[in-house]
Amino acid sequence: MAASSHIRLLSDAVINKIAAGEVVDRPASVLKELLENGLDAGAGRVTVEVVAGGRKLIAVSDDGSGMGRDDALLSIERHATSKIRDVDDIENVVTLGFRGEALAAIAAVSQLTLTTRTPEAEAGTEITVAGGKIQDVREAGCPAGTAVRARNLFYNVPARRKFLRSEQTELSHVRQTFLVYALSHPAVGLTLRVDEREVWRLAAGAKLEDRLLELFGGDLVKQLRPVDFQSGEVRLHGYTGLPQLNRGDRSDQYIFVNGRPAGAPLLHYALSEAYHTLLPRGRYPVLFLFLELPPGQLDVNVHPAKKEVRFRNPGAVRDTVIEGLRRALGSPPAVAEDAAPAGAMSSVAPGAAPPPPAENWFPAGMAAGAAAFPYPRLAMGSPLGRPPAAGVVPPVDSPAPGSGPWAWCRVLGQVGGLYVVMETSEGVVLMDPHAAHERVLFERFMKEILAHHVHSQGLLTPETVALLPQDARRVREQLDLLREMGFGISEFGADTFLVDALPVCLGNVSATTLLAEVAGTMERAGSRGGMEHWAEEAIAQAACKAAVKARDRLSAGEIEQLVRALAGTAMPYTCPHGRPTVIFMSFNELHRKFGRA
Ligand code: ADP
Ligand code: MG
Repeated sequence: MAASSHIRLLSDAVINKIAAGEVVDRPASVLKELLENGLDAGAGRVTVEVVAGGRKLIAVSDDGSGMGRDDALLSIERHATSKIRDVDDIENVVTLGFRGEALAAIAAVSQLTLTTRTPEAEAGTEITVAGGKIQDVREAGCPAGTAVRARNLFYNVPARRKFLRSEQTELSHVRQTFLVYALSHPAVGLTLRVDEREVWRLAAGAKLEDRLLELFGGDLVKQLRPVDFQSGEVRLHGYTGLPQLNRGDRSDQYIFVNGRPAGAPLLHYALSEAYHTLLPRGRYPVLFLFLELPPGQLDVNVHPAKKEVRFRNPGAVRDTVIEGLRRALGSPPAVAEDAAPAGAMSSVAPGAAPPPPAENWFPAGMAAGAAAFPYPRLAMGSPLGRPPAAGVVPPVDSPAPGSGPWAWCRVLGQVGGLYVVMETSEGVVLMDPHAAHERVLFERFMKEILAHHVHSQGLLTPETVALLPQDARRVREQLDLLREMGFGISEFGADTFLVDALPVCLGNVSATTLLAEVAGTMERAGSRGGMEHWAEEAIAQAACKAAVKARDRLSAGEIEQLVRALAGTAMPYTCPHGRPTVIFMSFNELHRKFGRA
């Protein structure tokens, strides 16, 4: 907002085009509008103060452009704005506000004081309004910028006042609003005072990552991956959570479109698509995403509270979001070592402590014990030290060094007849071999299918598989796809099929089980639509069937291969159904638990 652009009343033609709305329904919405005004005014620091959950006072002061006396008087009129002039401007809005309604609406339902001064003016202006009526206008000595204090919200509208919730509830909405703008404008210093106590003082000039650290702490930030992807005119950047950083609702998904906090059903769809095989249904990743596109590509004028946006080219936006997130999740973290993902066992970034030399692994006194741990240290990325063990764990494509969840690890054994226990440079890892194997098989199979290069292996004795009528019908409809997936399958009359080859990577599973499973998936996927979905589901299901059984005892060699293969996957942290493959406890966490601060 340039200080020179003066406020005007909008013409009726423009007013009629604006998605009119009741902008003030609770303290948090007053805060939202006042914060947006401060940010639009180019403030470097904004201070927010609330008393009694905002019922008694919501005050926002900024060091932005300020207003001259005439503008100050106009600003509290309805449909008075400096941000747009005519109809075409609505299509190219770059400010957060544009309707010229907020100050008028707030002034109508509170006792409001507006104090403002432009940097070049010697004296400022103070206007007092109550219930929309100007009480007083005077010169005032005040800092450059604008301060708006709204007292006793809805004092003159008892019906609305009754709808306010408890002080605590209103306050939590206020804090949430503050948080959202703190995230959308990390460079602006923000202070929040609640009942005269300072709750936040966020540094000015910050980068998004600094702000995330300040607001959420290192433990959460460690579980984020940077996103930065541009396709055509659409750019996606920010941070997205590893799958294990998920919630039961969308409350920790912060999405900004051209700097404006905004939701859109399209974005939710794209997110669920990107995390599709990483999270169980009903779980939502934590994320902080910024979408930037030319203003003309965006319609911000759809929602009265400007909470929703619409895209002119939804397809491009959706594809960019999906691709950007997939890349972010599939690539190694770009965070420095001390911020390395503890909960995520992220790979060790440059500068991390190297693994201890092998001879130091077992203290001399425990040398006898060493024999009980025959597993060698695995340096991921180096060639396998022994020939692949037969059967359970198929051989592995050798992963890129350091790309997996650990740069090195030492397998200690299996506990509970099931979980594999390992040490890594950063802590202790428990791995569920079944889930891990599912992930490995799933990715290998998907890769083969996408490359149209599925290895299939003929069965020594072809199997005839009789299916239930509805399963048989589905299999019949999808014979081509099944063949593409590596099934040697032909109709054998009635509801029976002859299977003479299976995809190699699925190992020794019975054709009957596999086919029935795949047919079942087709049915469930039917409602979700889309062939790609179906194939993914079917493959996840098949991988699950083919993976080592939870109770299988694994040999040292098999464990080693599995660990190595998991480290080489793109999404090592969850199985294709979203269950965790590994649980990590960092040494820091252990030290804390043992009281070694
Ligand atoms: P809108 O933001 O949609 O234009 P508002 O009612 O919120 O409508 O504000 C009306 C006008 O008052 C703005 O267009 C702007 O010119 C001016 N204004 C409001 N708040 C501030 C502020 N904090 N600093 C400078 N100018 C402001
Ligand atoms: Mg505004």
